[in-house]
Amino acid sequence: MISQDRILHDGMLHVFLFGTGGPMNNDTRVASSIGIIAGGEFILVDIGPGSYRNLDLMRLPAEHLSAVFLTHFHSDHIGDLGEANMLSWVNGRDKPLEVYGPKGVKQVVEGFEKAYELDTGYRIAHHGKEVLNREHSKMINRMILMEDPTEKVLCFDKNGLKVYAFEVDHTPVAPAVGYRIEFEGNCLVITGDTVKTENLVKHSRGADILFSEAISYTMINNLMAGAAKMNLKRFAKILKDIQNYHMEPIAAAQLAKEAQVKKLVIVHITPPLPNEKLEKLYLKGVEDIFKGEVILAQDRMKFKLEPNKEVGKNGFKKITK
Ligand SMILES: [Zn+2]
Ligand SMILES: [Zn+2]
Repeated sequence: MISQDRILHDGMLHVFLFGTGGPMNNDTRVASSIGIIAGGEFILVDIGPGSYRNLDLMRLPAEHLSAVFLTHFHSDHIGDLGEANMLSWVNGRDKPLEVYGPKGVKQVVEGFEKAYELDTGYRIAHHGKEVLNREHSKMINRMILMEDPTEKVLCFDKNGLKVYAFEVDHTPVAPAVGYRIEFEGNCLVITGDTVKTENLVKHSRGADILFSEAISYTMINNLMAGAAKMNLKRFAKILKDIQNYHMEPIAAAQLAKEAQVKKLVIVHITPPLPNEKLEKLYLKGVEDIFKGEVILAQDRMKFKLEPNKEVGKNGFKKITK
């Protein structure tokens, strides 16, 4: 079992995968969410439905949650925002929760606050205001303004943990962003949902770990053909539509190669992959393109990176999984 206080201040950059699936529900991978703990800060990038449960089951210190960064407002990225806010407050969070996101974040945050307003009242009435301070139950929306679509924006800088947002292309969902996160000489990039763009390559450059979304069009196409054959028109149409605003696994590999990242972790895995044979089909061609390590993410996977003060001297760095 991880000692919670120790990991908050052990000088490492910790990454936890709470949700590695896409919008198609399945038992093994819930919707998008990645947690990062470094320098005493605990932040989340996206908080899709079912992901808060994994945070809880990984015994992480929810009361230290400082901020949530949303990439965009599709339901598979925001569904557990209310749970994350409510339960981290009940656990002992002693400040409001900051929620960052592109234009639209205010509406999303205020909507969740409204939906949970009655429950907030019940909890205070039941446990007392000495235990549950209403001020701390709040969320603060922080809109990220992308003035120049080609430049990254520093939106969080606390205790050595820096979070930059950059624009991605998930049209018609706009604006949508990815995040570049830096701590003690290490760098993580989380693509959010997007097609491969020059801007994405630019801002992924040199990442120690690239967490890239991917959808297998080959597999989705087969499902679509089956759905059309069975006259499931609605399902077939949705399966067709989702293919114009994501990356295939080989596009994620191309991104990793061009951006010269050290490790590629594929997330937002769609369709669900219940066995090794389908995993092989999903990843076909990836290793021919990107020669670094490729990991097909699973829920509750974790990574930790030691401070990288050696970079520039001999390039040595230890990464443990
Ligand atoms: Zn999306
Ligand atoms: Zn998505």
